[in-house]
Amino acid sequence: MRQGLIDTRLLQCYFLQMNITSLSGIGEKRAASLQAAGLHTVFDLLNYFPRDYDDRSQIKTVAELNPNAVNTIRGVLAIEPENINPYGKRMQGNRPLTLTKAILKDSSGILELVWFNQPYLKKYFRVGQEYVFTGRVRLDFKNRLQMESPDYEIISETQLSAGRIVPVYTTPKGFSQKIFRKIIFEALSVVAKKDKEKSAEASQMINPNNSAFDENLPLSIRQAYDLCDRKKALINIHYPESDQAFMAARRRLVFEELFLMQMALLALKEEGKDRSGISLKNLDYSPLLAVLPFKLTSAQEHVLEDIKADFMHGSRMNRLIQGDVGSGKTAVAMIGAYLTIKNGSQAAIMAPTEVLAQQHFKDFDRYFGALGIKTVLLTGSLTLKERRAALEQIAVNPALMIVGTHALIQSGVEYARLGLVITDEQHRFGVSQRFMLTEKGDALPHTLVMTATPIPRTLALILYGDLDISIIDELPPGRQKIKTYCVDSRYRKRVHEFIRKEAKSGHQAYIICPAIEENQELLEKKSDESQKAQINNVLTYTQELSSALPELTISCLHGKMKPSEKQEIMDSFKSGKIHALVATTVVEVGVHAPNASLIIIENAERFGLSQLHQLRGRVGRGSVQSYCVLLTDAKNIVTAARMKAMVSTTDGFKLAELDLEQRGAGDFFGTRQHGLPDFRIANLYRDLDILKIAQSAAQKLHKGGIALSNEETEMIKSKVALVPIL
Ligand code: ADP
Ligand code: MG
Repeated sequence: MRQGLIDTRLLQCYFLQMNITSLSGIGEKRAASLQAAGLHTVFDLLNYFPRDYDDRSQIKTVAELNPNAVNTIRGVLAIEPENINPYGKRMQGNRPLTLTKAILKDSSGILELVWFNQPYLKKYFRVGQEYVFTGRVRLDFKNRLQMESPDYEIISETQLSAGRIVPVYTTPKGFSQKIFRKIIFEALSVVAKKDKEKSAEASQMINPNNSAFDENLPLSIRQAYDLCDRKKALINIHYPESDQAFMAARRRLVFEELFLMQMALLALKEEGKDRSGISLKNLDYSPLLAVLPFKLTSAQEHVLEDIKADFMHGSRMNRLIQGDVGSGKTAVAMIGAYLTIKNGSQAAIMAPTEVLAQQHFKDFDRYFGALGIKTVLLTGSLTLKERRAALEQIAVNPALMIVGTHALIQSGVEYARLGLVITDEQHRFGVSQRFMLTEKGDALPHTLVMTATPIPRTLALILYGDLDISIIDELPPGRQKIKTYCVDSRYRKRVHEFIRKEAKSGHQAYIICPAIEENQELLEKKSDESQKAQINNVLTYTQELSSALPELTISCLHGKMKPSEKQEIMDSFKSGKIHALVATTVVEVGVHAPNASLIIIENAERFGLSQLHQLRGRVGRGSVQSYCVLLTDAKNIVTAARMKAMVSTTDGFKLAELDLEQRGAGDFFGTRQHGLPDFRIANLYRDLDILKIAQSAAQKLHKGGIALSNEETEMIKSKVALVPIL
């Protein structure tokens, strides 16, 4: 909904919008490849930041070269390069090995240069011409210095690949670093030239948009937060003049990215406030309480007060419920849904996995059924007939509870009257997906987002900056702290004995393995330990455990099984027929089997802290003492710190903070399930400090604490509108 806005200022900067084909060196073929990488305009190129840098600012002489390191050297080509085929007819792969050799000379000596299988290079070099070469230097078998496969550049006025800090890009298909560098440089030059013309014709300096480089932060903010202008930032992010200039450029661009993102979220929140939701009159949920088998905790009641206030208010609820695993979020969601339905609208809950959706369906159906409310299930695995029946209900019955997976947001689902949308385990969805279901109804439905992932406040503001937050900070009574141990594989036998013991006293165990079946690739891919780590897999493990503990019933569960099979296994596990369940992380989210008292996590080093914490949350859900055993042979510091954190605390928020301190967002949230937006340049771990500053700046500006001219306000608005959140 934000994307329809046109940034008029961008249109004014028509040369930023100039097609890339207007740059020299870009023909149709290259343009197509750039476009495939999302690079259409000069603007896109300027904002395509390097992924790394090579410091080639130190140019050495032959006498100064460091063997076994990458060096940059300047000299004259002494003799014509030659192509040789040292092994005669011997082939390497399909192609004969060709060496291209050349000799470089400077005042201190000579250096041999070698390239492999690039015979065409020969024609690029001229004897007597001066070049700069960058490459790894080593001693050959005769103890002579040799530079391998160097990058090269003719000495000219503007050095792009040597004699400076050189950018390294994720190059689009068909581009070498060298050519891509040239193109970026060209783009910068074109804009710089226009910039000069522009500032010459406009004499007043204060206009923040006087630069062709598309300034998007007002001067007052740049001054207050000590940020360089965008022109300087863009030039130095691509071609840093110095370390210092680079740091300043990066800081400015990271700030900009995080600041605009935060402003966008605040705007979204504002926008949501103005929109009315369905106002609910009857807020009595005592009939539901009468059928629930427990009394609400006071934390649950507090959250319900928040929800009731939203419902009464008339504007649309947009609320996040954050509560550790097992804190009883489902009951709160259920009450919200109950009120919605009692007031004549539908409520829908979307779960990230089929297993969880099934579980919710059973729970909702049990309690709602007792109160005469119908519940339907919509998932991808329904038969055509079942699906049709579910869709029919959803389209006509306004007093309906709807439970499902992603299937709820697919096209073709028509809702009769959607009043409340609940997303469970939000961290498993992308940021954008949570908006999709809310777009479904005619009037905007209230939204309730639930997550067990404990998120440090700074990150919560990015993920959920547009939401109001309620926290369930208390577990239901009678829960015992889960005891956590970390051991290596020498203890595996004893751990298996532990399963036997728990089973004997009437309890059950989960064993989590990272893989489903034996997979050569995984085995060969060395773990961070860089030893051949054994990756346990569900299928082999199930067999081995069955023969080790023959008197127990042992089953397995993994994502490749049919939904009906999975359901059957989960049901028999819950009913106590299975003593030990060997599973992948399919059980990670939300699965509830209160009689399980032991979880063993094999290859614990392969899981992030957040995942480990979620997995551990599968036990300790009833009143019996529960245990979590982390099994790992990895000895590196990262794993050790992670295990130590797990053993020392069961508080998810503490774990999250700890992890953010130690290693950062990328690690805690894992790559698969973070749900965080992709940033162009910001790195939430490294840039935590800038994030905090940008957030406070955004909040200050939002509250009117920073005075801007009308023009500046307009500029920010137009930039914020372009932030891709949805
Ligand atoms: P989560 O917050 O992880 O989604 P659930 O909603 O699945 O947790 O709740 C975990 C278990 O706690 C469920 O069996 C639920 O019935 C139970 N439960 C929820 N609230 C209470 C309560 N107030 N008292 C006792 N048990 C509760
Ligand atoms: Mg849950």
